[in-house]
Amino acid sequence: MGSIEQFAGGLKSQGFEGEVDGAPTTLDFYSHDASLFELRPQVVVYPKNMADLSRLVATVNQFRPSQPDLNITARSAGTCMSGGSIGESIVVDFTKHMNKLTHVEDFAAQVEPGMLYREFEKETLKHGSLLPTFPASRELAAVGGMVGNSAGGEKSLEYGKTGEFVKQLDVVLSNGRSYALKPLSYQELERKKGQQDFEGEIYRKMHKLLEDNYDVIKAAKPKVSKNSTGYNLWDVWDRTTGIFDLTKLFVGSQGTLGLIGDIHFRLIKDKPHSGVLVVFMKDIKPLGDIINKVLEDKPASFEAFDNYTLILSMKFFPYFRKTLGWGGLIKLGLQLLPDALILLRGIPKMVLLVEFTAGTPEEVAQKVHSLRLKLEPYKLEAMEEDSTEAKAWKFRIMRRESFNLLRKKVHDKHTAPFIDDLVVPPPHLPEFLPKLREIIKKYDLLATVAGHMGDGNFHVIPLMKIEDPNDRAKLAPAMKEVNELVLSYGGSLSGEHNDGMIRGPWLETMYGKEVTDLFRATKKIFDPQNIFNPHKKTDASWEFSMSHIRQKF
Ligand SMILES: Cc1cc2nc3c(=O)[nH]c(=O)nc-3n(C[C@H](O)[C@H](O)[C@H](O)COP(=O)(O)OP(=O)(O)OC[C@H]3O[C@@H](n4cnc5c(N)ncnc54)[C@H](O)[C@@H]3O)c2cc1C
Repeated sequence: MGSIEQFAGGLKSQGFEGEVDGAPTTLDFYSHDASLFELRPQVVVYPKNMADLSRLVATVNQFRPSQPDLNITARSAGTCMSGGSIGESIVVDFTKHMNKLTHVEDFAAQVEPGMLYREFEKETLKHGSLLPTFPASRELAAVGGMVGNSAGGEKSLEYGKTGEFVKQLDVVLSNGRSYALKPLSYQELERKKGQQDFEGEIYRKMHKLLEDNYDVIKAAKPKVSKNSTGYNLWDVWDRTTGIFDLTKLFVGSQGTLGLIGDIHFRLIKDKPHSGVLVVFMKDIKPLGDIINKVLEDKPASFEAFDNYTLILSMKFFPYFRKTLGWGGLIKLGLQLLPDALILLRGIPKMVLLVEFTAGTPEEVAQKVHSLRLKLEPYKLEAMEEDSTEAKAWKFRIMRRESFNLLRKKVHDKHTAPFIDDLVVPPPHLPEFLPKLREIIKKYDLLATVAGHMGDGNFHVIPLMKIEDPNDRAKLAPAMKEVNELVLSYGGSLSGEHNDGMIRGPWLETMYGKEVTDLFRATKKIFDPQNIFNPHKKTDASWEFSMSHIRQKF
């Protein structure tokens, strides 16, 4: 095999304008994302523009005959929890240069993938507009990774996930050429199919695959409100409208089909007023029933976290200074004082945050109050109405930061995201949740539970000594039991965090062989030589993933 230096030289001679970095400290840093895994790249590149992405893919194709292991892993902010943004060959970091907002107006924006969500939001809010699909990692993640994973968050209950806000993606495909993906009418599709080039071939093959397997594919769509597993084939081609939209496929494809260089988003005007009912539950037995009751009132968001998260938040209180600054920390401290009375009576097992939005403060207050009255028969530990959301933000901060807190502050054990993103249709939750707890207990896992209750999307993140073979041996059987339980209720193994290395090997369990083979065929149409992000999604194997469990923390 030729050397990576030769490849880097080749890249430069193609006119690559960005940097190429093979320093050991750089490679160490890029060996990890927020997942359980580690893969050490050979080199990291920082492209400057779409033309650089084309040069990169062209050079990989040129060197492939002598260096068959060359491949490309896209990486925006690297917060992926499924191992999607690490790779053993070339990692492409979009955050250094390809991080610009090209255009923003009242209901739309065009942005490069490496722009951090928090920076993007600052700009869109100047126009009173919002991309309402930000994840809990909103302070860390970039918009490219939100598209790559099909991210969702607290507002997804009302607005859906990132894919619903993507109007167009400018991508570089495996032949090294750039293309605009957007919804096509039937006539436009037919014109594309008539082209005698790689693009024409993709449209011909994809249309045939979707047409030949139309009913199977439509029936395979998971019956949950959120899904980030597999390839989103069911939303690409609609016979009744005649619309053919490859953006639907690219969103959530984790860089396995090509590189995204520019994103055109649709934005919304957020409702001006919001308020929250905070519910403290000491006994979680009625949780399933309560979820169903809350959903009847159509809240804008419905989030929750458990007692362990709450205890950690209290214990590592100063941590929040970094997120909030001193002023925010003092405000947080003062606002937590009244809750100390509740906490003194015993730490609640679960804190629920139910948010309502409306056009006027009065409407908000009425919605919050009426839910409180509705929940009173459950004799819950306490409920706090907050019709301005001024008080409830402290709990929101805890919810959003819960996983981050665990990652950064618990040193003897590590967060092990492997059952971290399950989704079960809410009506089944009263039955499902106690069974889930049984499994957690059976494997003696210390697990925090937080998530998006309204979608039945739970983040269960055990704390483990993953480098210890005893703890590691729990992964496969615990995952099997939890996954089978989720699937037995018609759920999905991932609502937001995607397949990557952790759930890729379970795709056949979830979808069966026929549909998984259609996923594999899709990958082959776009990327016949497997140059994009190997060992993820359809190309993942449990053996490979398990042999790359993180050793250094
Ligand atoms: C504390 C914490 C909380 C989280 N909470 C949530 C949550 O609430 N909801 C949620 O959805 N996720 C959550 N996540 C997971 C993750 O943060 C999100 O999915 C986020 O959107 C990923 O963004 P990123 O920029 O870090 O992506 P990365 O990790 O860089 O990439 C994610 C995937 O997208 C691909 N990708 C990145 N850029 C490109 C590109 N330009 N072209 C093609 N493919 C690309 C990568 O290859 C990878 O497969 C959380 C993670 C952490 C650490």
